[in-house]
Amino acid sequence: MIKTFQNIFKEKGISPSYTRTRIYHYLEVSKNHPTVDEIYTALKDELPTLSKTTVYNVLNLFIEKELVKLVNMNSSEARYELYEQEHSHFKCDICGVIYDIPKIKTNYDKNQLGMFKVKNEEVNLSGICPKCI
Ligand SMILES: [Zn+2]
Ligand SMILES: [Zn+2]
Repeated sequence: MIKTFQNIFKEKGISPSYTRTRIYHYLEVSKNHPTVDEIYTALKDELPTLSKTTVYNVLNLFIEKELVKLVNMNSSEARYELYEQEHSHFKCDICGVIYDIPKIKTNYDKNQLGMFKVKNEEVNLSGICPKCI
């Protein structure tokens, strides 16, 4: 069964305001790991009352409800994406695009870490994408 926004929002206890559904939809369709600014720019014509603060607040609500997560690429700006199937990221050094790639499994000896407790095993790669080669 395909889940609609309404179902997803209901499950998470989020009231589906128009702004929230548009931001969710944008993340779902664009798949470009947008920043707050990019989401704001893309939706401001359609939602004249939208502010960057609203986008930021909606994203934080989505993060809290585990609909959205921050993309963990050491970039200066926060980037967001939907909580979907696990995957890794590849950032192109030339065009700056962050691609979704199949999940890369980390393989290391946990015993070497002693008392350090790992909570995040994300692997982020960077290099040159096929379009820039
Ligand atoms: Zn590229
Ligand atoms: Zn991604």
